[in-house]
Amino acid sequence: MDNILTQIAQYKQEASAFTAANAEAAENFRIKYLGTKGILKSVMGEMKNVPNENKKQFGQTVNELKSFLERKHAELKAAFESRETASSGMDLSLPGDPVSVGTRHPLTITRNRIVSIFKRLGFALAEGPDIEDDWHNFGAMNLPEDHPARDMQDTFYINQNPSWLLRTHTSSVQARVMETQKPPIRVICPGRVYRNETISARAHCFFHQVEGLYIDENVSFADLKQTLYFFVKEMFGNDVKVRFRPSYFPFTEPSAEMDISCRICEGEGCNVCKHTGWVEILGSGMVHPNVLENFGIDSNKYTGYAFGMGIERIAQLKYRVNDLRLYSQNDVRFLKQFTGAL
Ligand SMILES: [Zn+2]
Repeated sequence: MDNILTQIAQYKQEASAFTAANAEAAENFRIKYLGTKGILKSVMGEMKNVPNENKKQFGQTVNELKSFLERKHAELKAAFESRETASSGMDLSLPGDPVSVGTRHPLTITRNRIVSIFKRLGFALAEGPDIEDDWHNFGAMNLPEDHPARDMQDTFYINQNPSWLLRTHTSSVQARVMETQKPPIRVICPGRVYRNETISARAHCFFHQVEGLYIDENVSFADLKQTLYFFVKEMFGNDVKVRFRPSYFPFTEPSAEMDISCRICEGEGCNVCKHTGWVEILGSGMVHPNVLENFGIDSNKYTGYAFGMGIERIAQLKYRVNDLRLYSQNDVRFLKQFTGAL
């Protein structure tokens, strides 16, 4: 018994003097002391020769040896690993480079919000091409070639074919829907539109619209108003005030523009509402019979309403953006302010 205890003490001494310069040496230590044919195993094998009254004490000694050897092996590995790290010039304890998470563009956030509100009312999403022909953009919308309202919607034409143009409104999508679908039609059309305008804080050569179209039997102006009331309350909150003003659009009759109480100054008066307390947010009206007939829809049987709004304007009121150009400048200082916006 004493012999084997002396032997164990000797093993411990040898092991504690062991040094490892590399991974291989540390592995040799493991094989020699902790391996399946190693010293620890052979010491354990001595248990059967130990008298019963000493077995408990022997067991403890062997356990101590085992944890000593395991600790020593871990130390050896750690020592050369840190040396290797130091020589490679890499410090694994440094914090990592932060991953910068992007944000949705404020116009995308606003567009998604508008679309989701109308989807809940049963509107389906419809999209169309940015490059249009004259008919879908103007003619079908009751804007014949000599119509003065065309002057307000000057746009960009394609060199190769002057009858192609960049659409001035998303009404062209409505045209394409009426061309291919039969009533009842209930669609919402978001998209980018273009105008030949000088770029300033209030105007840009492109912006974004969402238009809606509902055609069925017995659709009335009251349906239009209720739909838009629901929309503004969902978008801006229950305390928003709404008013309709008569207006003119070639493709609707009667037509109305809708104002809401200014969300910036809450009616006190500011630059955005031109000190009136009201801001125009959309145009709307009952679809002109000529437009329905252009697509073979019987205007005696069917009626419909349409409305259209600029996404930039809605986002401006929602997020208090005072310059249209900010939306397309890609300035991270502007964009990161929308982190977490829904
Ligand atoms: Zn205001």
